[in-house]
Amino acid sequence: MINCARREDCCGCGACASGCPHGAIRMVADGMGFRYPVVDAALCTDCGLCEKLCAFRQRAGGSGEVQAEAIRFPELLDGSQSGGLSCALMRKAVGEGYIVYGAALDDDLVVRHRRVEKEADVEPLRLSKYVQSDMDGIPAAVLKDLKAGKKVLFTGTPCQCAGVGRLCAPYREQLLLADIVCHGVPAPAVWKGYLEHEAGIEGEKPSGALFRDPSLGWHAHRERLIFPHRPSKVQDHYTFLFYRHLMLRPSCSVCPYASVHRPSDVTMADCWGVEKALPGFADDNKGCSLLMVSTPRGHAFTRDFPVSCERKPVDLVKVLQRNMVRPTRASRYAKSFENAYLRKGFAYVYRHYGPSSLNYKLEQWVWSVKKRFRK
Ligand SMILES: Cc1cc2nc3c(=O)[nH]c(=O)nc-3n(C[C@H](O)[C@H](O)[C@H](O)COP(=O)(O)OP(=O)(O)OC[C@H]3O[C@@H](n4cnc5c(N)ncnc54)[C@H](O)[C@@H]3O)c2cc1C
Repeated sequence: MINCARREDCCGCGACASGCPHGAIRMVADGMGFRYPVVDAALCTDCGLCEKLCAFRQRAGGSGEVQAEAIRFPELLDGSQSGGLSCALMRKAVGEGYIVYGAALDDDLVVRHRRVEKEADVEPLRLSKYVQSDMDGIPAAVLKDLKAGKKVLFTGTPCQCAGVGRLCAPYREQLLLADIVCHGVPAPAVWKGYLEHEAGIEGEKPSGALFRDPSLGWHAHRERLIFPHRPSKVQDHYTFLFYRHLMLRPSCSVCPYASVHRPSDVTMADCWGVEKALPGFADDNKGCSLLMVSTPRGHAFTRDFPVSCERKPVDLVKVLQRNMVRPTRASRYAKSFENAYLRKGFAYVYRHYGPSSLNYKLEQWVWSVKKRFRK
């Protein structure tokens, strides 16, 4: 029987719940909005399948040789986070009859994975949503499509791809997995609290949000909140807390996929460092993707695209990011942040952990002293 006594042991992919033949597992959100499996002991037969389906605990990654390219799609740069790779993959897939799964914001600005069949429906899946997406029922839906003989492209974080891949292992020939290099996924409850806080200030709920507004340039990372009757607002309150590693899922700090060996066929990332690795290529701050491929299925699918693209092989070492080597370490204040958030809400934690807080200033001071001694 799956046991999540240690929160770091579960990434929340939901493969165990989707795969339980007795319907004995439900994914239930904790106070931070992170979902964990809860087993109904009356229905459970202790068959052990849920444990076998847990790719995260078995730390199942890939092992093939990785080929890397810097790639970008000029026509898709405007509505994409980096070089438009994800959109190009998803459009190509629907054009070839695949069902596509990816993360979108729903009408209440909750991030959920959804299933799409038509090119027009790919649009909401574009752009990064820096919050853990709700995967409720999604692994089961992918399995159902595969059993019906359909081809599926699943996009998501590496842990989500690993979970879906493990559940759907008998149908792997029909399934293409595309993951993102991931810094860690923030708590859905903090995102919700932030939106409510802003609604209180503005007098109306935001009707849309861009977590990292691409119109500000590729290197900028600030969120834009869109309101129905008021001007939109660009700031970095949520982004600031994200980068302080205060609200990441506990399993992110032991992520086995923070490596170049991935559980997917294709990996997408921002190609940070491309200016130095490939001088003259994509040096306009409009975005460039890194494409990493390590399976024959991934190679065959990414050989060509129906939209025009610029691509060049790149030395992976020159564009390697920290999250391709090791997981993000949670802040030493993460636990106290969580307790404070659960008791007092967003405005309080932003005051006490934001840029003007004492603990942040102290952290900066310690960091600057360490840096001086390292010289
Ligand atoms: C939480 C998070 C952390 C990230 N950390 C890094 C990082 O450290 N380094 C890096 O290079 N890139 C990171 N990215 C990915 C990066 O921001 C781009 O999304 C990626 O390079 C693809 O860009 P694109 O232009 O091809 O497509 P875009 O249109 O920007 O990407 C959309 C794709 O991302 C998927 N996606 C969006 N939000 C989520 C989500 N919450 N959960 C699962 N899948 C989602 C969608 O399903 C879709 O396939 C992160 C993304 C997220 C969501």
